[in-house]
Amino acid sequence: MTIMITGATGQLGSLILENLRDRVPAGQIIAGVRKLEQAAQLRERGIEAHYADYDVPESLDEAFSGVSRLLLISSSHTDDGVRLIQHKQVIEAAKRCGVGHILYTGFAFPRRSSDQSKPANVHTQTEQAIIESGLEYTFLRNALYIDFVGVLGMKEALLSGELITAPGEWKFNSVTRGDLALATANLLAEGKSGNQIYELARSHAWDFADLAEVLTEIAGKPVVHRQDAGVQHWIYAFMSMLDTSSTSGDLERLMDRPVTPLKDSVIPFLK
Ligand code: NDP
Repeated sequence: MTIMITGATGQLGSLILENLRDRVPAGQIIAGVRKLEQAAQLRERGIEAHYADYDVPESLDEAFSGVSRLLLISSSHTDDGVRLIQHKQVIEAAKRCGVGHILYTGFAFPRRSSDQSKPANVHTQTEQAIIESGLEYTFLRNALYIDFVGVLGMKEALLSGELITAPGEWKFNSVTRGDLALATANLLAEGKSGNQIYELARSHAWDFADLAEVLTEIAGKPVVHRQDAGVQHWIYAFMSMLDTSSTSGDLERLMDRPVTPLKDSVIPFLK
């Protein structure tokens, strides 16, 4: 079995690579990179690396030859139209190269629009393209990364004793990349066949009162939550478009351990 991870130099990809190295022989792993100097650096660390740029189909044909399981990490391009084209190029190359199984990192709990004339989001469209390709697949629908807590004013809350947020019934199901990487590496190493879909999210959502409780523990003094209509940040508009509250046991099942507690998840964003 040869496993290839695209986007292997990114934050999620490098964590998956790290976890995978503990689970399968190094000779079965290939990292996909879009810069040749990155390949040289990985080879120095004993990891085979292939040049694989989503924008360069020839590079994908060469890179995917002999690969049995391909993990496509969704593109980080800011334009969803470009991302979809890139993803389709990867899927088509995987098909040409006879890849046995494709895994794709999408987004958890996709919302179905009641307006059928509107195109689905890039992840749903990519999943559809994979289904239509006939390739055997696993959809890893990743919950919102915990990073968004970095813009909530937590450091100020520790000093003032007040966590001030925009009003609303907010509930969050956000996860660390570390948890996602562990679950993904376990799945890659297991090599299960057949089509599968996983919602990689927490089994319990949390709210701002929970976050204030965690900050109280960290500060060693009370931090209370207060809503204020004057709080303006684009993150709230972004989050209101997502399903950030649904839950799933898939992530914990795949990790074979509980998710990282909220307190441990937010500490890195207080430094
Ligand atoms: P990073 O930005 O850290 O990594 C993205 C990776 O994709 C990098 O390795 C990058 O390569 C690679 N990449 C970008 N464009 C291409 C290309 N044309 N060809 C080949 N590789 C390419 O993102 P993360 O690891 O943090 O997240 C992974 C993905 O998750 C993101 O790309 C995004 O689609 C999605 N995401 C999910 C979020 C969530 O909350 N669930 C939030 C934000 C993003 P290089 O090192 O050369 O730049």
